[in-house]
Amino acid sequence: MTKRIGFDIGGTNLKAGLIEGAQILARVSEPTPHHAHEMITVMKKMADDLLGENPHQYPQIGVAVPGVPSPKRPELLGGPNLLFLKSFDLWAALTSTFGQKVAIGNDATVAALGEARLGAGAEHDNFLLITIGTGVGGGLVLNGETIPGTGAMAGEIGHLKIGHKVMCGCGHTGCLEALASARSMEREGGLPLRELADKARNGDANALSIFQTSGASLGQALAQVLLTLDIRVFLFGGGGGPVLDLLEPSLLDTLIEQTHLQRRQDFTLKPASLGNDAGWVGAAFLST
Ligand SMILES: [Zn+2]
Repeated sequence: MTKRIGFDIGGTNLKAGLIEGAQILARVSEPTPHHAHEMITVMKKMADDLLGENPHQYPQIGVAVPGVPSPKRPELLGGPNLLFLKSFDLWAALTSTFGQKVAIGNDATVAALGEARLGAGAEHDNFLLITIGTGVGGGLVLNGETIPGTGAMAGEIGHLKIGHKVMCGCGHTGCLEALASARSMEREGGLPLRELADKARNGDANALSIFQTSGASLGQALAQVLLTLDIRVFLFGGGGGPVLDLLEPSLLDTLIEQTHLQRRQDFTLKPASLGNDAGWVGAAFLST
């Protein structure tokens, strides 16, 4: 069966894993090195460790990275946390290290691909993965394939305007991210998301209303996605999956109110299932 290796270069951790067929065989993680050449050395060692040898030929390899993966414009790669990537030809370095072309994809898009191949999206042709963390990110899958868009931003719904006058980190007001990110809910409730969720489940009115507002804001954004793309399946990753039960009532009410679909069973809302593996798993399935 086909073996594949995926990497996920994050601001804090560099993760990798080995897949055979649909089976995750092994995974490894290291702190992300802060220099490009050191990072390539570590990646080679991780691949060799995963395979248990230093092979003559590596299996298919893919890499997930924040930012826009364009070989002609390396400065768009890496985002604010991986500045050293901006002046480095990652494509050439990986090709010469592994002796073959290595596919590089945007981390949010690639996470959606991971969910589509081995995760909660496997049984759905069309879905949006919504990642709720510091911000609100997303990745789009149509007809079983990811759609990165021109600038790798397709499905990134965090800055859709919801119409509340709340300031967003991007400099605009009323963005979904300013209302429904884990960070915004934590700021509003003065507690880490998990504790805020416990409070809400114990009936605390203030905590419940925070999830209700965020759920309704997500509903507004997802109604726009549904009306544009006819997507009815929404997967929730990051901190979103574990609090989906709290977001769901107002989210569904809003979807029903703002779209032509009238029944709750017309929508599928469910937690993403790969967790921290989604990025490297998706990367392993990228095609060169
Ligand atoms: Zn914004």
